[in-house]
Amino acid sequence: MSNGVIEGPAVVGAGIVGVCTALYLQRRGQSVTLYDPGGPAAGASYGNAGLISPESCVPIAMPGILRKLPGWLLDPEGPLAIDRRYLPRAAPWLLRLMRAGRRSQVLRIAKALRALHAPAFEAYRDLLGDRTFEELIRVSGHVQIWNGDAGSELAPLVREIFEANDVRAEPLGADDLRQLVPDLAKNVAGGLLLPNNGMTLNPRRLVETLCDIFVAAGGTLRREKVMKLVPEDTRRIRVLANQGDRRHEAVVVAAGAWSRGLLRSLGLVPPLDTERGYHAMIEDPGLDLRIPVLHKGLGFGATPMEHGLRLAGTVEFAGLSAPPNEKRARKLLEHGCRLFPKLQTSKISMWMGFRPSMPDSLPVIDTAPSHPGIFMGFGHGHFGMTGGPTTARALARLMTGERPGLDLAPYALSRF
Ligand SMILES: Cc1cc2nc3c(=O)[nH]c(=O)nc-3n(C[C@H](O)[C@H](O)[C@H](O)COP(=O)(O)OP(=O)(O)OC[C@H]3O[C@@H](n4cnc5c(N)ncnc54)[C@H](O)[C@@H]3O)c2cc1C
Repeated sequence: MSNGVIEGPAVVGAGIVGVCTALYLQRRGQSVTLYDPGGPAAGASYGNAGLISPESCVPIAMPGILRKLPGWLLDPEGPLAIDRRYLPRAAPWLLRLMRAGRRSQVLRIAKALRALHAPAFEAYRDLLGDRTFEELIRVSGHVQIWNGDAGSELAPLVREIFEANDVRAEPLGADDLRQLVPDLAKNVAGGLLLPNNGMTLNPRRLVETLCDIFVAAGGTLRREKVMKLVPEDTRRIRVLANQGDRRHEAVVVAAGAWSRGLLRSLGLVPPLDTERGYHAMIEDPGLDLRIPVLHKGLGFGATPMEHGLRLAGTVEFAGLSAPPNEKRARKLLEHGCRLFPKLQTSKISMWMGFRPSMPDSLPVIDTAPSHPGIFMGFGHGHFGMTGGPTTARALARLMTGERPGLDLAPYALSRF
């Protein structure tokens, strides 16, 4: 039971968002407790594609998205699939996704994504220090490719978004592509280079390292599951965890796709669902790949990491409790072999993770309405390794009475 002591701020969830928030709070002199039953990087932050993309600002919902819905329902192995049993649960979220795909919304959302993502490298460098940053992160650039017409249909709008948001994108012909990615299949005739984006060599190690820095500086990591938050007054929130009951002066909900469950008892129901994604990790892939390649048509990326090649991506709507569908990870391997004919796949492992996704591609960075001691940082969907540190910095500033350094209006919960 709680002993009545009011501890410093608590952060719930030790994914990229929670760990960075804990660190930024600690830097402001706070005595922080980080809760996660799995320790650092137990969720989506473990196995993602590792892309850190300050210039990524094209939202997930784009015009024409409605036409794609029947295909998602009919092809369980397509780049985006909806488990029919989950459709009634996902329907309201999907309706919001359709609405977010309107042109006027897309342009607004792109601006907010860019503002959140732009400082990503600077924030990581600040948190990690120069030496560790160089060890874990590369400003490698990204290569984007498409297949068929999918790219060309949206190309004018994507170009407009890039121009409006100062994104540098260089068209690549077949020869340029071959120079940058020598082992790419010959039938890929062109693409785009985004030279200012990059990657981490290991997302799990990145989050663990940040957590080590937090603990070494005196932060507390509790491997406990938070069951319920009970606000007692504005500076006192009871945190009921599975191994203890404590009071904290403030709480940050950064529990990724699980954040909705924690907020429900406070009367908050954000439209947060999970877009499940998969990876296939290939040790000794036998490829010469120095830059991540993103296949925008098939919705996956190939990232050269320190422990092998990671093929990661695709989207599946099936909720938080359905078991993984191994066929989806196998499909990634199939695509990978087609894209890189020399790829050797004798040593592979597979993983599924839960993207915490809002229908408009923007996270929630806010104070909980009617509960001023509770803060929210979740819903980063496809972009959390990029938007995580900036979100964390804005939240820590907000909590300590500083200006957040980012216009938080686009990320307010009240937008829904
Ligand atoms: C296949 C795939 C590829 C991706 N590729 C990229 C990419 O290349 N670049 C990019 O920027 N983003 C990418 N993402 C998205 C990115 O991984 C996520 O947006 C990001 O990891 C979310 O971070 P988070 O901290 O919000 O959540 P998580 O990493 O999921 O962390 C949430 C944590 O909360 C904990 N938790 C849950 N409930 C409780 C509770 N009750 N009490 C205590 N702790 C709790 C969980 O254990 C978990 O550790 C990808 C995602 C997937 C699935």
